[in-house]
Amino acid sequence: MEAKKVLEILQRRFPNEPEYLQAVEEVLNSIEEEYNNHPEFERYNLIERLCIPDRVYEFRVNWMDDSGKIQTNMGYRIQHNNAIGPYKGGIRFHSSVNLSILKFLAFEQPFKNSLTTLPMGGGKGGSDFSPRGKSDAEVMRFCQAFVLELGRHIGPNIDVPAGDIGVGGREVGYMFGMYKKLTREFTGTFTGKGMEFGGSLLRPEATGYGAVYFLQEMLKTKGDSVKGKKVAVSGAGNVAQYAMKKILELGGTPITCSDSNGYIYDPDGIDMEKWEYIMLLKNGYRARISKYLEKYPNAKYVEGAKPWGEKCDIAMPCATQNELNGEQAAQLVANGCIAVCEGANMPCTPEAIKVFQDAKILYSPGKASNAGGVSVSGLEMSQNSERLSWTAEDVDNRLHTIMETIHANCVKYGTEADGYVNYVKGANVAGFMKVASAMMAQGI
Ligand code: NDP
Repeated sequence: MEAKKVLEILQRRFPNEPEYLQAVEEVLNSIEEEYNNHPEFERYNLIERLCIPDRVYEFRVNWMDDSGKIQTNMGYRIQHNNAIGPYKGGIRFHSSVNLSILKFLAFEQPFKNSLTTLPMGGGKGGSDFSPRGKSDAEVMRFCQAFVLELGRHIGPNIDVPAGDIGVGGREVGYMFGMYKKLTREFTGTFTGKGMEFGGSLLRPEATGYGAVYFLQEMLKTKGDSVKGKKVAVSGAGNVAQYAMKKILELGGTPITCSDSNGYIYDPDGIDMEKWEYIMLLKNGYRARISKYLEKYPNAKYVEGAKPWGEKCDIAMPCATQNELNGEQAAQLVANGCIAVCEGANMPCTPEAIKVFQDAKILYSPGKASNAGGVSVSGLEMSQNSERLSWTAEDVDNRLHTIMETIHANCVKYGTEADGYVNYVKGANVAGFMKVASAMMAQGI
């Protein structure tokens, strides 16, 4: 296999899907060498079968807004690969959602899920519907209309969706409610459910906590820890919130967070009391992050910018794809940043990743460091199958062990001759090998 040639074919077939091609290119480049050690993979054309999703569902969603007007949005579900378990991956509701973005997310998911050690395949879905500014009733009607279509393609042993950007406990609850009505069954078909109806303790915290556990492991390889570190975080949603909380618990200090309008920088650090206020702002009032200044005027708010120019020891991009570019990466390195741990999916551009790797600082791709979310989703599926719920401590211990295992696999497959750990290569090769073996064993 020649990564360049495969990419050219995909570029010809899918010319208008830049995010998808970006994610594929990263994986192809890092697995090329290992792939070519296995001539049988080439004979089975494993690479194209792994790059192109099993199937894509695309549908129109009609719903009624509060004024009685009918609105139209697009809905999608991409079932990418189910070699090691049912399709599994989140649902994203955001105005920017399109096929390319969901295809990149779905493509990364089987590798990530493979790393978790749990039996889950990969998929992703969503809509260009934005819950921002909508009433609860509008969000409910949209979720119901979305599941009227999506419902026929999913199931506890087929495809198990969860949350992502714009989809939290509220949206999962509405989707689950509609799905249950349609199927007349109470199953674990969605994860991220409320605690009262089959959700797992620690699922809301899992992605952020897991990312910080992974960061801890990376720092340990340098004999270092989170304690005393200043951390620039982007995003102020689910992942950013719990990443900040875990950083605080481990003695570090978050100094920034953001939303799509801009970022706040608090020179005194975001402590637990300020964190509680951010939780109230974002989850209670569903307000903009700029409101932080109304209570903490010592902070600054920068409209339309990212936080990467602020001096920090560690950066955790936790908002969205391509939110940290090459120039911003160079600025982080120049300011003494020693580690970049992705909470979001593909937040760093290829140019930014190159800057971090050339500078030999610790850098982990989201595929590895944000896998805690889907891991606890997998644990939620196990609990649903058992019809039991585990304690928070039990789930946290398992999450911790999974993140340590993912880190160890990255080190195993990604350590270079000079001892530098290329976590991109490590995660991609480790994730790929398991999916590839399962596909080989199952024939075509
Ligand atoms: P949320 O919707 O809870 O929060 C997203 C945050 O990012 C918000 O602050 C949002 O701001 C901001 N954001 C969204 N889109 C953009 C954009 N285009 N530009 C700038 N900021 C933006 O989502 P999550 O926290 O769940 O997800 C964040 C990232 O983590 C995503 O990349 C997601 O795929 C990834 N992830 C999430 C997992 C989970 O379990 N939730 C699991 C693994 C990965 P605003 O409010 O203004 O839109």
